[in-house]
Amino acid sequence: MSPVLVLGIDGVRHDALCAASTPELDRLATAGFRVPVPVAADSPTISGPCWTTIATGLPAPVHGVRDNATPGNPVRPDFLSRIRAARPGTTTFAAAGWAPLVRPVGCGPIFAGHGFRPLAPDERYDVAAANRADEAIVAATVDVLSAGTEAGTPAAAFVHLGTPDLVAHRDGVAIGYRQAIETADRRAGRILAAVRARAAATGEDWTVLVATDHGHRDGGGHGGDSVAERAAWLIAAGPGVPRRPPSMPTQADIYPLVLSAAGVRPADAGGEADG
Ligand SMILES: [Zn+2]
Repeated sequence: MSPVLVLGIDGVRHDALCAASTPELDRLATAGFRVPVPVAADSPTISGPCWTTIATGLPAPVHGVRDNATPGNPVRPDFLSRIRAARPGTTTFAAAGWAPLVRPVGCGPIFAGHGFRPLAPDERYDVAAANRADEAIVAATVDVLSAGTEAGTPAAAFVHLGTPDLVAHRDGVAIGYRQAIETADRRAGRILAAVRARAAATGEDWTVLVATDHGHRDGGGHGGDSVAERAAWLIAAGPGVPRRPPSMPTQADIYPLVLSAAGVRPADAGGEADG
C-alpha cells in the first residue's frame, strides 16, 4: 500500500510533451514509464468525459458524461471517494482550477468531497487567472504534503494544473504552449520535491501518476476525432506501478492503477461487483 498522487495537466498533446523540456516529468518517466494513451474512440475529446473516465475507470458510454455541462450517471465513485470509503478515517486531497473537477457545477463534481479551488466562481478563466490558480494549487498541495490538514495527511491526492489547455485554446500549439508545458513541469517539480521530502520524513513510499485528458488541434481546440485531439498520455512511477506499462493502455486503466497502488480493491469500497 502506497500513498498516491495523481497529477492532471489539462490539454497537453503527447508530441508537444515530448518536444518540450520537462526534466521533472522525464525523471519520473525514467523511474517508471511514460506511454501514449489515446482518448478512446467512444469518448469525446473534452475535459468532462475524459477526466470522468480517469476518475472512475469507466468508458464514456457508461459514465454518461458527454460534455462539460451535464452530469453523468451515478455509476461509481471517483477513486478518491473509493479510497476514503475503503479505508475509514483516511483523508484525500483534491485541487483544481477548473470547477467541475471539484464543485457541483456543470458535469461536476468529478471528484466529490469539495476539493480546493482557488478561483472565485465568477472569475473569468483566462490564461493569467489560470496561472494564478495553478500557483495557488501548487502552494496548497505543498502545504498539505508538508503539514497535512486538520483531518490528517492524505492517503491520495488529485491535483490539476490547467494553464497549458488555456494557452492552446488562445494561441494554438505554438511556442507559448510549449512554454506553458515547461512551466507546468516546474510546478510539478515543486510538488514532487514535497513528495520526496515527505517520503524522507515519514518513510512513506509514494506512487505518482501524471496524466492529461486530451490533446489539441494545431490551431488550438479539441472535441473532435483527430489523432492530435486524442493524443493523451500517462506517466507513472512508484511502488504501486508495474515495471511494464499495460499494453494498449486506455484512460480507464488509470483507475485500477491508482486503487491497486493504494491497496484498495475496486470492489472493497462500493460493495458492487466490478467486471
Ligand atoms: Zn481539458
